Amino acid sequence: MEKRRLKVAIDGPAGAGKSTVARTVARRLGYTYLDTGAMYRALALAAVERGIPLDDPVRLGEMVRSIHMTVRDDGGLFRVWVDGQELTDRLRDPSTDKAVKLIAMHRPVREVMVEIQRSLAREGGVVMEGRDITSVVLPDAEVKVFLTGDVRERARRRWQELQAKGVKISWEEVLDELIQRDRKDLERDWGKLVKLPDAHLVDTTGKTQDEVVAEILKLCEEKEIALHSR
Ligand code: C5P
Repeated sequence: MEKRRLKVAIDGPAGAGKSTVARTVARRLGYTYLDTGAMYRALALAAVERGIPLDDPVRLGEMVRSIHMTVRDDGGLFRVWVDGQELTDRLRDPSTDKAVKLIAMHRPVREVMVEIQRSLAREGGVVMEGRDITSVVLPDAEVKVFLTGDVRERARRRWQELQAKGVKISWEEVLDELIQRDRKDLERDWGKLVKLPDAHLVDTTGKTQDEVVAEILKLCEEKEIALHSR
């Protein structure tokens, strides 16, 4: 019996552990991992490098349509190139955190990104994570997850990640930035973060990563069984 290659969509606020969980789920299923946050981050870097103001939707929209973005899941490392230049190593710098929430607000930017992301998922066999994947990018995904967790725990996780990279930043600053990013993600008019009725709520607070991964793999397995028994 050939297994159907599902589309798994995972949304949630910053620092909920989406990347690690999505990457692990993808590896366990033999699927491709797609990190849409990394794509928005690459756009933010590209705009800053080109001197395009982050509050100018027209020029940003033109830029997004004119550049060529390439992405690749390299064994769980999600790599991004813009016009042939690899930006992977710089995507998670704190300055990018500040810029990305501004660029992600603009509809002309989001429309192009949604098209690219849909085409990446066309064949199935993907685990895609972001903010608007369950709602806008892949509303037809067979498995939808809303991954969340206590904001202080999310900030601690993000702070530890930055410490490990040698970035000097206080926990309070990380918490403040995260709260601001959550607010922008929840408030924008188009593609905002939303928990849909058909998305499974997975709260990571107090859970290990293995427990969260197991919960999502179980959802995928149940879906496969349901599809086969139709
Ligand atoms: O997931 P990550 O924290 O890397 O995402 C960076 C930013 O990109 C988010 O704060 C959000 O503003 C934006 N984003 C988005 N839509 C997505 C993925 C990310 O607006 N699908």
